[in-house]
Amino acid sequence: MTAPVRTRIAPSPTGAPHLGTAYMALFNLAYARKHGGQFILRIEDTDQQRSSTESEQAIFDALKWAGIQWDEGPDCGGDHGPYRQSERLDIYEKEINRLLEQGDAYRCFCSTERLNELRAQQMADKQTPRYDGHCLSLSAEESVKRAQSEPHVVRMKIPDSGTCQFHDELRGEVSIEWSQIDHQVIRKSDGFPTYHLANVVDDHYMGITHVIRGEEWISSGPKHILLYQQLGWDAPVFTHLPLLRNPDKSKLSKRKNPTGIFYFRDAGFLPEALLNYLGMMGYTLPDQREIFSLDELVDTFDLKRISLGGPIFDLAKLKWLNGRYLREKLEPAQVVDRLLQWKANPDVLGKIMPLALQRLETFSDFFPLAQFIFNEQPDYAIEELTGKFEPEQPARLLKIAEWELEKLSKWDRDAISSLFQKIADIEEMKLKQLLPLFFVAISGSTVSLPLFDGISILGPDITRMRFRHALEKLTDHGQGLSKKGVKKLEKEYASSYGNRID
Ligand code: GLU
Repeated sequence: MTAPVRTRIAPSPTGAPHLGTAYMALFNLAYARKHGGQFILRIEDTDQQRSSTESEQAIFDALKWAGIQWDEGPDCGGDHGPYRQSERLDIYEKEINRLLEQGDAYRCFCSTERLNELRAQQMADKQTPRYDGHCLSLSAEESVKRAQSEPHVVRMKIPDSGTCQFHDELRGEVSIEWSQIDHQVIRKSDGFPTYHLANVVDDHYMGITHVIRGEEWISSGPKHILLYQQLGWDAPVFTHLPLLRNPDKSKLSKRKNPTGIFYFRDAGFLPEALLNYLGMMGYTLPDQREIFSLDELVDTFDLKRISLGGPIFDLAKLKWLNGRYLREKLEPAQVVDRLLQWKANPDVLGKIMPLALQRLETFSDFFPLAQFIFNEQPDYAIEELTGKFEPEQPARLLKIAEWELEKLSKWDRDAISSLFQKIADIEEMKLKQLLPLFFVAISGSTVSLPLFDGISILGPDITRMRFRHALEKLTDHGQGLSKKGVKKLEKEYASSYGNRID
């Protein structure tokens, strides 16, 4: 009897839930449903510094909004838990020790300085940067003894020569030279496993039969295949899906496209249209139909129909599809319901009203005042943006604000207000001088509802898009930042704001 199909997605709870996660989730869900199997949500939070519970909750909320439902996961449980990697450390530890005992892994005590020098030398010699196996020569006794007092990591022992071959459902046999593969760290000095180890161990113990993930993981295939062999387990069937692309064919990035799932919710898209559109990314139904529900996708789903040419995520096409959904899939009364649920609900209006009230004489004043909350993107003339600023200042300030907002872990009025105060302080400007630029970028006008409250209602995804739109407008008018200009600003920013940009 063959094992029941089990698929999974394994997002890391860092930052805003990404469109790519919904895309992977859709194909994993469709495959599992088609074969009467289960679809699992696992949270990969081994990077403790970057993971947060807010981000984990946001992943649940975003996927549910998009119409993705999982059978097992941290929130709903299941027979193969826990489903959060930070709660599975003892499981990884056992397997790491097994690999150490078998001689398939080894402890490495090399200092960061040595590793940096090695890397620099290899780069200068035009070699693939790779650990040189220095600590492989330690005897077992010495390794155990030093481990008691010295910080160390555990690495995989990777063959020096030969080729690793593995099967990908879409690509057939994939061959990668072992000499291209680094001696991967599998346990960090803080005792946490790295992605590679944890992912393999979890996929095994969670009974995952099919790993369907993004093509950026193909180069990790050899490490995973080797771990399966060393641990004596059958590897799942691998399918690497093509990456979503911007209309200019570059890898989908938030610099050029909205990439947060919540953007689509907040900008007024229907989740079923978004899911339909994601289902068209590299995929067509056998009858080429363009409008289909999740159930219709599942009914005829066949992984082999995925094409490898990078699918283009085109916002304009999605809008067109969304319009068709509004007209063809919903009755006008249903559209009214959905509109009310969107932002015309007591919760959102309740947040806007106290801000608008000061300026209201009649109800007629309300919507014009609050329109920037409902618009996807307000319109304004370039002169309104540049105002009294020096030529390069608006682009510079918008870019800095974008970076600073990116680092906010809490999205509320107070945090947003202190952030702009910080920018004003560092730039040696008065807040009053700084804000008109942001008023225009956010609301399209210098007279509007209080800015920080407005930004907190709009949320990070829409805010980011408005800054980006303003930056693009500046570029179109020859007042943007060149690539070089951004690099220069990055350096300045790192020193004056005391922060590194990821
Ligand atoms: N945690 C990885 C990610 O965030 C999972 C990759 C995989 O599916 O193996 O993409």
